[in-house]
Amino acid sequence: MSSEHINPDKCIACTICQVHCPVAKVTPNFLGPRLIGPAYERFRFLDIAEEESLHYCANCKNCDISCPQGVSISTLNMVARCEYTEKNGGKLRDWVLSHGGFLADVFKYIPTWMKNFGMHNPATRILLDTIGISKKAPIPKFDKHFRLVYKKLKQPKLEKKIVFFPGCYVDDYDYSIGLDMIWIFNQAGYEVIVPEQFVCCGLPLVSNGFMKDAAKNAASNVSVIKEYQEKGIPIVTGCPSCALMFKKDVPEMFPEVVYDSYKGGVMDAQEFLMSCVERGELSFKEKISGKSIIYHSPCHLRAQGIGLPSIDLIEKLTGSKVQNAQAGCCGISGSYGFKKEKYQIGLEVGKELFDTIKSSNCEIVTTECGTCQAQIKHGTGQKAYHPVTVIRKLVENK
Ligand code: SF4
Ligand code: SF4
Repeated sequence: MSSEHINPDKCIACTICQVHCPVAKVTPNFLGPRLIGPAYERFRFLDIAEEESLHYCANCKNCDISCPQGVSISTLNMVARCEYTEKNGGKLRDWVLSHGGFLADVFKYIPTWMKNFGMHNPATRILLDTIGISKKAPIPKFDKHFRLVYKKLKQPKLEKKIVFFPGCYVDDYDYSIGLDMIWIFNQAGYEVIVPEQFVCCGLPLVSNGFMKDAAKNAASNVSVIKEYQEKGIPIVTGCPSCALMFKKDVPEMFPEVVYDSYKGGVMDAQEFLMSCVERGELSFKEKISGKSIIYHSPCHLRAQGIGLPSIDLIEKLTGSKVQNAQAGCCGISGSYGFKKEKYQIGLEVGKELFDTIKSSNCEIVTTECGTCQAQIKHGTGQKAYHPVTVIRKLVENK
């Protein structure tokens, strides 16, 4: 893609985005969305040297959510970052953090304990720290590879089918979310298909400056999506960042791969499950109440403009009341909070959320995004679960 696709002149300089940017709020190193996005874009047209603070944008998309003019500020920033990386070369650290899906696939047959020993022993963490990945960062531990587990799984033969895009977090770090997803879709009468050909959605590649690699992933994933859409089979993901990538970033950044009936490609799984509830396809006889639950809405979920389906889903299916934390960004933004120079910024951004969770004294913390879960555990000491996992735990009384 080239930056001509987004017109910076739509910006009326109202500064609303500036107020909603969680990074600009906590560090003077970032000049903020209005300046780094549409204002600086004009300098980019003139090929004037890039403003260094561009690299502090977390691609959280809160600016896009707030802009009354519909300027895709985060896309302006990410395209500029990718152009900068192409011109000046990318950092090894950023390559490692953004190619996690590729690396995990290469190492998927290595035993989990061996991968974790290799990645998390103190010597590796010091080495990673020297290339710019903070040794304090809450890097998640590897788990069994979800798609290897899926291959051996026996599902009931059901007439209705649904395709599940697992995303790298489920594939590599928490396969149990994938199993919970299959469980709930089976309960709703859908047999779950997880295509072997799916690769990383590409959002970490875009966020770290590797646009060409992201374009390859987009083309590859969209061809799989097309195949199933043509068969009339819906495609869902439980990860808000993957869903947003397919709905917003792929059409905006790689319009050449999108076809007429694409329509956002991949749906939020929780939104689809709520439609199952409304159609009478999904319910549980026993209503489980009495648990106090607090929910954090990931920025990339809010950016989809679909409301907060996970709250409705947990409440409708279990009878529990869910408190919406409404405390902004957790500060991790994918791999942003893992970076040495951004680790502290991430914690400061997430402070309001951590304080809200701690003072709520809720028994269960829930959020859809895997790296938000890791950051919440890091900031509060409390484990956070995917909403579908919470539903399964409550229904099965685990
Ligand atoms: S994407 Fe997030 S960090 Fe970047 S400018 Fe927008 S609000 Fe700020
Ligand atoms: S919110 Fe939109 S219109 Fe207002 S300053 Fe930011 S980019 Fe410009």
